[in-house]
Amino acid sequence: MLDLTGKNALVTGIANNRSIAWGIAQQLHQAGANLGVTFLPDERGRYEQKVRELVEPLAPSLFLPCDVQQPEQVTATFNTVQEKWGKLDVLIHCLAFASKEDLGGDFSRVSVDGFNLALDVSAYSLVSLCAAAKPLMTDGGSVVTLTYLGGARVVPNYNVMGIAKAALEMNVRYLAAELGAQNVRVNGISAGPIRTLASSAVGGILDMIHHVEAVAPLKRTVTQTEVGNAAAFLCSDLASGITGQILYVDSGYSIMGM
Ligand code: NAD
Repeated sequence: MLDLTGKNALVTGIANNRSIAWGIAQQLHQAGANLGVTFLPDERGRYEQKVRELVEPLAPSLFLPCDVQQPEQVTATFNTVQEKWGKLDVLIHCLAFASKEDLGGDFSRVSVDGFNLALDVSAYSLVSLCAAAKPLMTDGGSVVTLTYLGGARVVPNYNVMGIAKAALEMNVRYLAAELGAQNVRVNGISAGPIRTLASSAVGGILDMIHHVEAVAPLKRTVTQTEVGNAAAFLCSDLASGITGQILYVDSGYSIMGM
């Protein structure tokens, strides 16, 4: 049975009720996990208020600001996890960012700053969060990140984010190799296109979704709940033999040649 009772799970990346992280948080909660939620702080506190209200029904026992570009916020987050929970069992990395101008047009026009920004927030952050989580995962654990087909194949407009996802997927493998010795598993879910705040910055996201609806074996794209179910599985003992993998939750789109 899929049971996460007694597991402490830290979920990053909830911005609103369309966020994939929101779908994951709900499924982890349903499976009995004790939740901690981080949010991206902004000057006017708008995100904080919105996310706080959204997650209230899941009664998270931790609610913390964590901008992955601010190392002191990452340190403070995991210090609090240690202080309040003692150990961490599950880490959900469900965040990414690139400038809108780098998510369309000619890829070769990307600036070094735009390139570094996308790679820093979307790929390096998995490494820094895992480094901070490692000493707290004393009883084994599971890390799950979110990736997209555009990191393995060329998808129009995905551009620099494809490079970031390729790096992210390789991070999954190197981190899985390192953390396996302490029974911590690291996996990625490659989700089909879903309308969210982040995906709306990618040029032609609706065309991508319509293409999937026409071509994918299941003739539709996936939902946040379906991604959440797969994440809950990967975090549970049912997936105890699975690490370093990218699990496609994409209605089968990625198997098609035409
Ligand atoms: P979303 O906009 O709901 O979530 C993105 C999150 O990233 C937000 O919560 C935002 O606050 C957070 N974030 C951005 N910069 C940050 C920073 N510096 N520090 C901390 N958090 C930061 O969109 P989403 O589509 O749910 O994206 C979640 C993940 O899923 C991303 O990695 C995305 O690439 C991936 N993904 C999305 C799709 C899709 O079609 N929506 C498909 C495959 C993979």
